[in-house]
Amino acid sequence: MNSKKQKRIYLDYAATTPMDPLVLKEMEPYFVTKFGNPNSPHAFGQETLVAVDKAREMLAEFCNCSSNEIIFTSGATEGNNLAIRGVIKKYQKIIKKPEIISTRIEHPSVLATCSDIENQGVGIKYLPTNKNGTVNISGLEKLINDSTVLVSVMYANNEIGIIQPIREIGKLLNKLNKNRKTPIVFHTDAVQAVGTLNCDTKYLHVDLLSISAHKIYGPKGVGALYVKSGTPITGIQTGGDQEYNLRAGTIPVPIIVGFGKAIELLKTYQKKDKEKMTLLRDWAFNEIVNVVPDIKITGELNNSRLANNLHLRVDEVNGEDVMFLLDTEANIAVSAGSACTAGATEPSKVLKEIGFDQKKSKEGLRITLGRMTTKSEMNTFVSKYISALKKLRKSIEMD
Ligand code: PMP
Repeated sequence: MNSKKQKRIYLDYAATTPMDPLVLKEMEPYFVTKFGNPNSPHAFGQETLVAVDKAREMLAEFCNCSSNEIIFTSGATEGNNLAIRGVIKKYQKIIKKPEIISTRIEHPSVLATCSDIENQGVGIKYLPTNKNGTVNISGLEKLINDSTVLVSVMYANNEIGIIQPIREIGKLLNKLNKNRKTPIVFHTDAVQAVGTLNCDTKYLHVDLLSISAHKIYGPKGVGALYVKSGTPITGIQTGGDQEYNLRAGTIPVPIIVGFGKAIELLKTYQKKDKEKMTLLRDWAFNEIVNVVPDIKITGELNNSRLANNLHLRVDEVNGEDVMFLLDTEANIAVSAGSACTAGATEPSKVLKEIGFDQKKSKEGLRITLGRMTTKSEMNTFVSKYISALKKLRKSIEMD
Protein backbone atom coordinates (compact mmCIF):
# COMPACT_ATOMS: atom_id res chain seq x y z
CA MET A 1 0.00 0.00 0.00
CA ASN A 2 1.53 3.25 -1.08
CA SER A 3 -0.28 6.44 -0.18
CA LYS A 4 1.88 9.06 -1.91
CA LYS A 5 -0.22 9.71 -4.98
CA GLN A 6 -3.42 8.12 -3.80
CA LYS A 7 -6.63 10.08 -3.67
CA ARG A 8 -7.92 10.54 -0.14
CA ILE A 9 -11.03 8.53 0.71
CA TYR A 10 -13.33 9.67 3.47
CA LEU A 11 -15.43 6.99 5.16
CA ASP A 12 -16.06 8.70 8.48
CA TYR A 13 -19.30 10.55 7.74
CA ALA A 14 -20.66 9.74 11.22
CA ALA A 15 -17.92 11.97 12.69
CA THR A 16 -18.77 14.88 10.43
CA THR A 17 -19.68 15.66 6.81
CA PRO A 18 -18.31 18.15 4.29
CA MET A 19 -20.58 21.13 3.77
CA ASP A 20 -22.70 21.09 0.63
CA PRO A 21 -21.63 23.99 -1.68
CA LEU A 22 -25.31 25.00 -1.93
CA VAL A 23 -25.33 25.44 1.83
CA LEU A 24 -22.28 27.68 1.68
CA LYS A 25 -23.86 29.75 -1.11
CA GLU A 26 -26.99 30.30 0.97
CA MET A 27 -24.90 31.36 3.98
CA GLU A 28 -22.54 33.77 2.24
CA PRO A 29 -24.60 36.99 2.24
CA TYR A 30 -25.17 36.70 5.98
CA PHE A 31 -21.51 37.09 6.92
CA VAL A 32 -20.84 40.54 5.50
CA THR A 33 -23.78 42.16 3.75
CA LYS A 34 -26.76 40.95 5.77
CA PHE A 35 -25.28 41.12 9.22
CA GLY A 36 -28.06 42.59 11.38
CA ASN A 37 -29.00 41.15 14.74
CA PRO A 38 -32.35 39.43 14.21
CA ASN A 39 -33.51 40.76 17.56
CA SER A 40 -33.13 44.38 16.38
CA PRO A 41 -36.37 46.03 15.31
CA HIS A 42 -34.79 48.02 12.44
CA ALA A 43 -34.51 46.90 8.81
CA PHE A 44 -31.02 45.39 9.24
CA GLY A 45 -32.38 43.13 11.96
CA GLN A 46 -35.61 42.37 10.19
CA GLU A 47 -33.91 41.08 7.05
CA THR A 48 -31.93 38.53 9.06
CA LEU A 49 -34.97 37.66 11.14
CA VAL A 50 -36.74 36.66 7.92
CA ALA A 51 -33.83 34.34 7.09
CA VAL A 52 -33.79 32.79 10.58
CA ASP A 53 -37.56 32.31 10.40
CA LYS A 54 -37.20 30.54 7.07
CA ALA A 55 -34.60 28.14 8.52
CA ARG A 56 -36.80 27.55 11.55
CA GLU A 57 -39.71 26.70 9.28
CA MET A 58 -37.55 24.22 7.34
CA LEU A 59 -36.69 22.45 10.57
CA ALA A 60 -40.29 22.56 11.76
CA GLU A 61 -41.46 20.98 8.53
CA PHE A 62 -38.80 18.27 8.84
CA CYS A 63 -39.77 17.51 12.44
CA ASN A 64 -43.52 17.97 11.76
CA CYS A 65 -43.94 20.58 14.47
CA SER A 66 -44.58 24.32 14.86
CA SER A 67 -41.71 26.69 14.26
CA ASN A 68 -41.90 27.95 17.85
CA GLU A 69 -41.00 24.44 18.98
CA ILE A 70 -37.54 24.67 17.37
CA ILE A 71 -34.76 26.05 19.60
CA PHE A 72 -31.45 26.76 17.89
CA THR A 73 -28.38 25.68 19.84
CA SER A 74 -24.63 25.49 19.19
CA GLY A 75 -24.92 21.79 18.34
CA ALA A 76 -26.26 18.58 19.77
CA THR A 77 -23.92 18.64 22.76
CA GLU A 78 -25.70 21.78 23.88
CA GLY A 79 -29.09 20.41 22.79
CA ASN A 80 -28.60 17.30 24.92
CA ASN A 81 -27.42 19.38 27.87
CA LEU A 82 -30.42 21.68 27.55
CA ALA A 83 -32.81 18.74 27.28
CA ILE A 84 -31.51 16.92 30.34
CA ARG A 85 -30.49 19.78 32.60
CA GLY A 86 -33.47 21.90 31.54
CA VAL A 87 -36.06 19.25 32.46
CA ILE A 88 -34.28 18.43 35.72
CA LYS A 89 -34.04 22.12 36.66
CA LYS A 90 -37.78 22.46 36.21
CA TYR A 91 -38.68 19.24 38.01
CA GLN A 92 -36.28 19.72 40.92
CA LYS A 93 -38.70 22.37 42.15
CA ILE A 94 -41.51 19.79 42.32
CA ILE A 95 -39.85 16.44 43.03
CA LYS A 96 -37.25 15.88 45.78
CA LYS A 97 -35.00 13.42 43.97
CA PRO A 98 -36.00 13.30 40.31
CA GLU A 99 -34.87 10.30 38.29
CA ILE A 100 -33.71 9.86 34.71
CA ILE A 101 -33.70 6.66 32.67
CA SER A 102 -31.16 6.45 29.88
CA THR A 103 -28.80 3.87 28.34
CA ARG A 104 -25.07 3.28 28.67
CA ILE A 105 -24.58 3.49 24.92
CA GLU A 106 -25.53 7.18 24.63
CA HIS A 107 -23.16 9.79 23.24
CA PRO A 108 -20.85 11.36 25.90
CA SER A 109 -22.92 14.56 25.76
CA VAL A 110 -25.75 12.57 27.36
CA LEU A 111 -23.70 10.17 29.49
CA ALA A 112 -21.42 12.80 30.99
CA THR A 113 -24.36 15.13 31.61
CA CYS A 114 -26.20 12.35 33.44
CA SER A 115 -23.21 11.55 35.64
CA ASP A 116 -22.65 15.21 36.35
CA ILE A 117 -26.18 15.75 37.60
CA GLU A 118 -26.07 12.45 39.46
CA ASN A 119 -23.46 14.13 41.65
CA GLN A 120 -26.03 16.84 42.28
CA GLY A 121 -28.55 14.40 43.72
CA VAL A 122 -30.43 13.24 40.61
CA GLY A 123 -31.11 9.50 40.27
CA ILE A 124 -29.99 7.77 37.04
CA LYS A 125 -31.04 4.32 35.89
CA TYR A 126 -29.79 2.61 32.76
CA LEU A 127 -31.88 0.52 30.44
CA PRO A 128 -29.88 -2.52 29.32
CA THR A 129 -29.25 -3.44 25.70
CA ASN A 130 -29.08 -6.86 24.08
CA LYS A 131 -26.10 -8.33 22.20
CA ASN A 132 -27.27 -6.63 18.98
CA GLY A 133 -27.20 -3.22 20.64
CA THR A 134 -30.97 -2.69 20.88
CA VAL A 135 -32.44 -1.45 24.17
CA ASN A 136 -34.64 -3.80 26.07
CA ILE A 137 -37.96 -1.97 25.95
CA SER A 138 -39.76 -4.54 28.08
CA GLY A 139 -37.43 -3.61 30.95
CA LEU A 140 -38.39 0.07 30.79
CA GLU A 141 -41.66 -0.10 32.68
CA LYS A 142 -39.95 -1.82 35.61
CA LEU A 143 -37.46 1.04 35.96
CA ILE A 144 -40.16 3.72 36.12
CA ASN A 145 -41.46 5.02 39.45
CA ASP A 146 -43.16 8.18 40.76
CA SER A 147 -39.84 10.09 40.68
CA THR A 148 -39.08 9.35 37.00
CA VAL A 149 -39.14 12.60 35.09
CA LEU A 150 -37.14 11.95 31.94
CA VAL A 151 -36.33 9.09 29.58
CA SER A 152 -33.46 9.77 27.17
CA VAL A 153 -32.70 7.16 24.50
CA MET A 154 -30.74 7.88 21.34
CA TYR A 155 -32.46 7.31 17.97
CA ALA A 156 -29.40 5.62 16.46
CA ASN A 157 -26.00 4.87 17.91
CA ASN A 158 -23.03 6.87 16.61
CA GLU A 159 -20.64 3.95 16.85
CA ILE A 160 -22.43 0.75 15.91
CA GLY A 161 -25.27 2.39 13.96
CA ILE A 162 -28.07 0.46 15.65
CA ILE A 163 -31.50 2.10 15.53
CA GLN A 164 -33.56 2.14 18.73
CA PRO A 165 -37.33 1.58 18.99
CA ILE A 166 -38.08 5.25 19.67
CA ARG A 167 -41.71 5.20 18.48
CA GLU A 168 -42.47 2.16 20.67
CA ILE A 169 -40.90 3.82 23.72
CA GLY A 170 -42.80 7.04 22.95
CA LYS A 171 -46.10 5.19 22.74
CA LEU A 172 -45.45 3.33 25.99
CA LEU A 173 -44.62 6.58 27.82
CA ASN A 174 -47.72 8.26 26.41
CA LYS A 175 -49.84 5.46 27.79
CA LEU A 176 -48.18 5.61 31.21
CA ASN A 177 -48.37 9.40 31.34
CA LYS A 178 -52.17 9.27 31.20
CA ASN A 179 -52.19 8.02 34.80
CA ARG A 180 -49.36 10.13 36.18
CA LYS A 181 -49.44 13.35 38.19
CA THR A 182 -46.10 14.45 36.71
CA PRO A 183 -45.59 13.36 33.11
CA ILE A 184 -42.36 11.66 32.04
CA VAL A 185 -40.60 13.69 29.34
CA PHE A 186 -39.18 11.69 26.44
CA HIS A 187 -35.97 12.89 24.80
CA THR A 188 -34.12 11.39 21.88
CA ASP A 189 -30.70 12.30 20.51
CA ALA A 190 -31.43 12.05 16.77
CA VAL A 191 -28.05 13.31 15.53
CA GLN A 192 -27.09 10.18 13.60
CA ALA A 193 -30.63 9.48 12.43
CA VAL A 194 -31.42 12.76 10.70
CA GLY A 195 -29.68 11.91 7.42
CA THR A 196 -31.72 8.80 6.68
CA LEU A 197 -34.59 8.31 9.15
CA ASN A 198 -38.03 9.75 9.77
CA CYS A 199 -37.81 12.54 12.35
CA ASP A 200 -41.53 13.32 12.51
CA THR A 201 -41.84 14.09 16.22
CA LYS A 202 -45.55 13.24 16.25
CA TYR A 203 -44.94 9.85 14.66
CA LEU A 204 -42.12 9.20 17.15
CA HIS A 205 -44.12 10.49 20.17
CA VAL A 206 -41.13 12.41 21.52
CA ASP A 207 -41.13 15.63 23.57
CA LEU A 208 -37.52 16.61 22.91
CA LEU A 209 -35.29 15.76 19.94
CA SER A 210 -31.69 16.92 19.35
CA ILE A 211 -30.15 17.52 15.93
CA SER A 212 -26.78 18.79 14.69
CA ALA A 213 -26.14 20.45 11.32
CA HIS A 214 -22.60 19.18 10.68
CA LYS A 215 -23.74 15.57 10.30
CA ILE A 216 -26.02 16.47 7.38
CA TYR A 217 -23.72 18.54 5.14
CA GLY A 218 -24.40 21.74 7.08
CA PRO A 219 -22.03 23.98 9.05
CA LYS A 220 -20.38 23.09 12.34
CA GLY A 221 -21.40 24.90 15.51
CA VAL A 222 -25.16 24.85 15.08
CA GLY A 223 -27.91 22.46 16.05
CA ALA A 224 -31.46 22.47 17.31
CA LEU A 225 -33.60 21.05 20.05
CA TYR A 226 -37.23 20.32 19.27
CA VAL A 227 -39.21 21.17 22.40
CA LYS A 228 -42.82 20.08 22.28
CA SER A 229 -45.06 22.89 23.40
CA GLY A 230 -45.94 22.52 27.10
CA THR A 231 -42.90 20.38 27.99
CA PRO A 232 -41.69 21.11 31.53
CA ILE A 233 -38.26 22.60 30.79
CA THR A 234 -36.27 25.70 31.75
CA GLY A 235 -33.34 27.40 30.03
CA ILE A 236 -29.96 26.54 31.54
CA GLN A 237 -27.97 29.64 30.69
CA THR A 238 -28.83 33.13 31.84
CA GLY A 239 -28.92 36.11 29.53
CA GLY A 240 -31.33 37.50 26.97
CA ASP A 241 -34.74 36.11 26.13
CA GLN A 242 -33.83 34.66 22.72
CA GLU A 243 -35.16 31.32 21.51
CA TYR A 244 -38.43 31.53 23.42
CA ASN A 245 -36.53 32.10 26.66
CA LEU A 246 -34.83 28.72 26.41
CA ARG A 247 -31.44 29.68 24.99
CA ALA A 248 -29.93 33.06 25.72
CA GLY A 249 -27.43 34.57 23.29
CA THR A 250 -27.32 36.38 19.95
CA ILE A 251 -28.48 34.08 17.19
CA PRO A 252 -25.69 32.99 14.77
CA VAL A 253 -27.55 33.86 11.58
CA PRO A 254 -25.14 32.55 8.88
CA ILE A 255 -24.87 29.05 10.29
CA ILE A 256 -28.57 28.89 11.07
CA VAL A 257 -29.29 29.81 7.45
CA GLY A 258 -26.90 27.04 6.38
CA PHE A 259 -28.59 24.58 8.73
CA GLY A 260 -31.98 25.42 7.21
CA LYS A 261 -30.61 24.82 3.71
CA ALA A 262 -29.03 21.49 4.73
CA ILE A 263 -32.39 20.36 6.10
CA GLU A 264 -34.15 21.58 2.96
CA LEU A 265 -31.74 19.52 0.83
CA LEU A 266 -32.73 16.39 2.74
CA LYS A 267 -36.08 16.58 0.92
CA THR A 268 -34.19 15.79 -2.28
CA TYR A 269 -31.51 13.55 -0.85
CA GLN A 270 -32.71 11.61 2.18
CA LYS A 271 -34.31 8.73 0.26
CA LYS A 272 -31.66 8.69 -2.49
CA ASP A 273 -28.79 8.76 0.02
CA LYS A 274 -30.32 5.91 1.99
CA GLU A 275 -30.80 3.69 -1.04
CA LYS A 276 -27.36 4.37 -2.46
CA MET A 277 -25.50 3.91 0.80
CA THR A 278 -27.35 0.69 1.65
CA LEU A 279 -26.41 -0.81 -1.72
CA LEU A 280 -22.75 0.23 -1.50
CA ARG A 281 -22.41 -0.85 2.09
CA ASP A 282 -23.99 -4.28 1.55
CA TRP A 283 -21.94 -4.81 -1.58
CA ALA A 284 -18.71 -4.00 0.30
CA PHE A 285 -19.60 -6.26 3.20
CA ASN A 286 -20.32 -9.20 0.89
CA GLU A 287 -17.04 -8.66 -0.94
CA ILE A 288 -15.16 -8.69 2.36
CA VAL A 289 -16.98 -11.81 3.63
CA ASN A 290 -15.93 -13.70 0.49
CA VAL A 291 -12.27 -13.17 1.36
CA VAL A 292 -12.43 -12.93 5.16
CA PRO A 293 -15.15 -15.42 6.15
CA ASP A 294 -14.59 -14.91 9.89
CA ILE A 295 -15.34 -11.18 9.70
CA LYS A 296 -18.07 -10.12 12.12
CA ILE A 297 -20.57 -7.30 11.94
CA THR A 298 -21.85 -5.75 15.17
CA GLY A 299 -25.62 -6.08 15.13
CA GLU A 300 -27.23 -7.17 11.90
CA LEU A 301 -27.07 -6.06 8.30
CA ASN A 302 -30.74 -5.16 7.98
CA ASN A 303 -33.00 -2.19 8.58
CA SER A 304 -32.23 -2.19 12.31
CA ARG A 305 -28.98 -0.35 11.46
CA LEU A 306 -28.30 3.00 9.83
CA ALA A 307 -27.92 2.74 6.05
CA ASN A 308 -24.46 4.30 6.15
CA ASN A 309 -22.95 2.26 8.97
CA LEU A 310 -20.73 -0.79 8.79
CA HIS A 311 -19.23 -1.83 12.13
CA LEU A 312 -16.77 -4.68 11.71
CA ARG A 313 -14.69 -6.87 13.98
CA VAL A 314 -12.01 -9.46 13.34
CA ASP A 315 -10.79 -11.70 16.16
CA GLU A 316 -7.44 -10.63 17.61
CA VAL A 317 -7.14 -7.60 15.31
CA ASN A 318 -7.20 -4.25 17.05
CA GLY A 319 -9.55 -1.78 15.30
CA GLU A 320 -7.22 1.11 15.95
CA ASP A 321 -4.34 -0.70 14.23
CA VAL A 322 -6.50 -1.17 11.12
CA MET A 323 -7.54 2.47 11.24
CA PHE A 324 -3.93 3.71 11.42
CA LEU A 325 -2.80 1.42 8.64
CA LEU A 326 -5.61 2.55 6.35
CA ASP A 327 -4.89 6.18 7.16
CA THR A 328 -1.13 6.13 6.81
CA GLU A 329 -0.75 3.66 3.96
CA ALA A 330 -3.92 4.02 1.92
CA ASN A 331 -5.21 7.53 2.67
CA ILE A 332 -8.53 6.11 3.82
CA ALA A 333 -10.27 7.65 6.83
CA VAL A 334 -12.37 5.33 8.99
CA SER A 335 -12.84 5.22 12.74
CA ALA A 336 -12.15 2.88 15.61
CA GLY A 337 -14.79 3.81 18.15
CA SER A 338 -16.52 7.15 17.77
CA ALA A 339 -14.64 10.36 17.00
CA CYS A 340 -15.44 11.78 20.40
CA THR A 341 -13.72 8.93 22.22
CA ALA A 342 -10.98 8.25 19.66
CA GLY A 343 -7.42 9.16 20.51
CA ALA A 344 -7.61 7.07 23.63
CA THR A 345 -6.70 3.40 23.18
CA GLU A 346 -9.47 2.49 25.52
CA PRO A 347 -11.91 -0.28 24.71
CA SER A 348 -15.22 0.91 23.32
CA LYS A 349 -17.75 1.57 26.07
CA VAL A 350 -20.55 0.77 23.64
CA LEU A 351 -19.10 -2.66 22.79
CA LYS A 352 -18.50 -3.39 26.46
CA GLU A 353 -22.06 -2.45 27.30
CA ILE A 354 -23.52 -4.78 24.71
CA GLY A 355 -21.56 -7.69 26.14
CA PHE A 356 -18.06 -7.83 24.66
CA ASP A 357 -15.05 -8.39 26.91
CA GLN A 358 -12.23 -5.86 27.30
CA LYS A 359 -10.15 -7.33 24.45
CA LYS A 360 -12.99 -7.71 21.96
CA SER A 361 -14.13 -4.19 22.75
CA LYS A 362 -10.95 -2.96 21.06
CA GLU A 363 -11.60 -4.83 17.83
CA GLY A 364 -14.31 -2.56 16.39
CA LEU A 365 -13.85 -0.60 13.18
CA ARG A 366 -16.49 1.90 12.07
CA ILE A 367 -16.91 2.62 8.38
CA THR A 368 -19.52 5.26 7.63
CA LEU A 369 -20.60 6.22 4.13
CA GLY A 370 -22.03 9.49 2.94
CA ARG A 371 -23.72 11.31 0.07
CA MET A 372 -20.44 11.64 -1.83
CA THR A 373 -19.28 8.01 -1.43
CA THR A 374 -18.75 6.23 -4.74
CA LYS A 375 -18.55 2.60 -5.84
CA SER A 376 -14.93 3.13 -6.82
CA GLU A 377 -14.10 4.43 -3.32
CA MET A 378 -15.77 1.42 -1.75
CA ASN A 379 -13.92 -0.86 -4.12
CA THR A 380 -10.61 0.66 -3.05
CA PHE A 381 -11.62 0.45 0.58
CA VAL A 382 -12.44 -3.27 0.29
CA SER A 383 -9.08 -4.17 -1.23
CA LYS A 384 -7.03 -1.97 1.12
CA TYR A 385 -8.95 -3.22 4.13
CA ILE A 386 -8.31 -6.83 3.18
CA SER A 387 -4.59 -6.07 2.67
CA ALA A 388 -4.44 -4.33 6.05
CA LEU A 389 -6.03 -7.33 7.76
CA LYS A 390 -3.56 -9.71 6.09
CA LYS A 391 -0.63 -7.57 7.16
CA LEU A 392 -1.83 -7.28 10.75
CA ARG A 393 -2.63 -10.98 11.01
CA LYS A 394 0.81 -11.86 9.72
CA SER A 395 2.43 -9.68 12.36
CA ILE A 396 0.21 -11.26 15.04
CA GLU A 397 1.29 -14.75 13.87
CA MET A 398 4.93 -13.73 14.03
CA ASP A 399 4.65 -12.37 17.57
N1 PMP B 1 -24.96 12.86 19.75
C1 PMP B 1 -24.49 12.00 18.83
C2 PMP B 1 -25.14 10.68 18.65
C3 PMP B 1 -23.38 12.37 18.05
O1 PMP B 1 -22.91 11.51 17.14
C4 PMP B 1 -22.79 13.65 18.25
C5 PMP B 1 -21.59 14.07 17.43
N2 PMP B 1 -20.56 13.14 17.39
C6 PMP B 1 -23.33 14.49 19.22
C7 PMP B 1 -24.42 14.06 19.95
C8 PMP B 1 -22.75 15.84 19.48
O2 PMP B 1 -23.09 16.71 18.47
P1 PMP B 1 -22.30 18.09 18.24
O3 PMP B 1 -21.04 17.75 17.55
O4 PMP B 1 -23.23 18.89 17.40
O5 PMP B 1 -22.10 18.71 19.57
